[in-house]
Amino acid sequence: MKKVFILGSTGSIGVNCLNVISSFKDEFEVSGLTVNSNTELLLEQIKKFKPKLVVVRDENSAKKIYGRIPNGCELLVGEEGLIKVSIDAEYDIFMGAMVGFAGLAPTIEAVKRGKRIALANKETLVVAGELVTNLCRENASEIIPVDSEHSAIYQCLIGENLNEVEKLILTASGGPFLNKEKSFFENATLDEALNHPNWKMGSKITIDSATMMNKGLEVIEAHWLFGLQVDKIEVVIHPQSIIHSMVQFVDGSIKAQLGLPDMKLPIQYALTFPERLQNNFERTSLPEIGSLTFFEPDLTKFECLKLALEAINEGGIAPCILNAANEVAVGKFLKKEIKFSHIPLLINKALDKVENCFTPDLETIFEYDKKTREYVITLT
Ligand code: NAD
Ligand code: MG
Repeated sequence: MKKVFILGSTGSIGVNCLNVISSFKDEFEVSGLTVNSNTELLLEQIKKFKPKLVVVRDENSAKKIYGRIPNGCELLVGEEGLIKVSIDAEYDIFMGAMVGFAGLAPTIEAVKRGKRIALANKETLVVAGELVTNLCRENASEIIPVDSEHSAIYQCLIGENLNEVEKLILTASGGPFLNKEKSFFENATLDEALNHPNWKMGSKITIDSATMMNKGLEVIEAHWLFGLQVDKIEVVIHPQSIIHSMVQFVDGSIKAQLGLPDMKLPIQYALTFPERLQNNFERTSLPEIGSLTFFEPDLTKFECLKLALEAINEGGIAPCILNAANEVAVGKFLKKEIKFSHIPLLINKALDKVENCFTPDLETIFEYDKKTREYVITLT
């Protein structure tokens, strides 16, 4: 039995991960769960999966469940709780399913323990990719990506030599606004932006998909995961989201991984690798899908993708500034405080205003994340 600790168990990835675990009861047990504030769902999860340890980050939400946690399950609270469990809890696999920069510090603790990291939280690699991948090497910790594109590439690279890779081809659905004119972004509503055609996900990544910042973050994630230069990572629009990504080799051959748009598959792969286990998930019927299409992305329309590519090319702390500004800007859009079209404007202002710094250490990353947020919060 492998022990799985899920950071962010009440989110879209967290819930899917628990669904996968439910169908492999002889393989996996849940040793711990953490949530931000959804304590009612947490209580249901505790009842079903019987973890020994849970963390509620938001202290007011935690108060609502004092006295309601069953015997044998310990409750910790706050950010200190998140760090403490990452350091102390018993687990073989750490499922990083929290959203945003907040996932960085606990993930680093899991890496330092040499654990397997099933990583959905792409922001961790965007803001501190160099540092985290170095720590992985030093501590013999392995990151198995959960992000569907990276899981696809990981699968295509099995048995291959990285030196023989010509390029990675990251597919992108293009999100809900693929066929809209740029002028549409002025008045795009929150509901329209949240209406992703293929994937059901948390609100932050859904907005990132509408702006295509998500693909920019994924290019940065792929750069650190696979150690390839950014000019060897191509983004291709593929609206059906059936090919999850591809690898092209030096002889021109291309390998792809296909499947329905369902995160349970990459989650299962990250838990069971190097094995594949039989499951009863829906199978892909290619005749039913009929056609697969591909286009080049429009960087003039999707400015966030362009900003992300510029940030990783600039290097240093620029991706961290980009990420912090994006998290604040998306948060503002979700609260209807700014227009959809203002998201890239705010990020651009932050990248202009906050001076870059090269080879940042962890302390510097936290400092820049904080100061970027403080700046972007004041913008409209
Ligand atoms: P979500 O918003 O649905 O869930 C986030 C989870 O993290 C929740 O359990 C929440 O309680 C917890 N959380 C949020 N903020 C927190 C904080 N400050 N402190 C502690 N806990 C906090 O998000 P999601 O869609 O499941 O995405 C999770 C991560 O996985 C993101 O980084 C996202 O980019 C990545 N990802 C998601 C999908 C998907 O299909 N949803 C696909 C690929 C990658
Ligand atoms: Mg993805």
